[in-house]
Amino acid sequence: MRIANNNGRLALVHNDRIIDIEKASAGAFAADPMSVFARWDELVSWGASVNVGEHPDAESLDPAMFGAPSPRPRQVIGVGLNYADHAIESGLPLPEEPVVFTKFSSSVAGPDVDVTLPGPTVDWEAELVIVIGTGGRHIPRSKARSHIAGFTVGQDLSERTVQWQGQPAQFSMGKSFENFAPTGPVIVTLDELADPDHLTHTTTIVGADGTQTEVQNGTTDQLIFGVDDLVARLSETIELFPGDLIFTGTPSGVGAGRDPKRFLVAGETLVTTIAGIGQITQRFLAGPR
Ligand code: ZN
Repeated sequence: MRIANNNGRLALVHNDRIIDIEKASAGAFAADPMSVFARWDELVSWGASVNVGEHPDAESLDPAMFGAPSPRPRQVIGVGLNYADHAIESGLPLPEEPVVFTKFSSSVAGPDVDVTLPGPTVDWEAELVIVIGTGGRHIPRSKARSHIAGFTVGQDLSERTVQWQGQPAQFSMGKSFENFAPTGPVIVTLDELADPDHLTHTTTIVGADGTQTEVQNGTTDQLIFGVDDLVARLSETIELFPGDLIFTGTPSGVGAGRDPKRFLVAGETLVTTIAGIGQITQRFLAGPR
């Protein structure tokens, strides 16, 4: 099942067709995408009874109308160095515990946005994003799936100079500029994506002249801390709330790990794809400095 935020309204997607959930459910579910996460199981069982393709209210979908699937999460949690090859390219040891930071929720954006470059060292990080359904504390690993609404595609955009500024460095500011947490295009639920540990993802930079360069190509089976493990470990400390986002980490191929280093410049477009979920796109615009 694929759930979208269609112009601010919760929607069910099948191929190129879409239905408005509030209308099709006769108000059983509200239109606000944030209102359903705490009732996710009800939504999924209702959705399973709906044939989107033949529904009288089905319309053609317009991807340009899609917003962030969870537009106002209470928490956006980032996990650093969660792929061995990325830890190595960063010159850092493999973590024994998850390395956790926050992307402030005002950085959350939809799947297709313009990003104004706040500095000269903005980097890309393709990530599988966990969307929390029913929240909780002390969630055992064996119950983690029942707290997950589904998965979406994310970019953990990072201004590296700001990220490493100060002693000790504070990651969160460099990762929280406007539109630095683009997500989407949909949430894919567990019934359609039973195995989040074997998903292929790619990141491609499209230059102003149209030249395409694939810069990242990874699979989530390389995650040091897998999806269930992250939910369990994070919930030991943090209460997870409905709609929270967990950015699970990025594989190798980021700009800062290259020789020479490469960062995003105005005119470039970043395209991130996870097989079975979809694609998100950001266009980069010149900033103030
Ligand atoms: Zn990251």
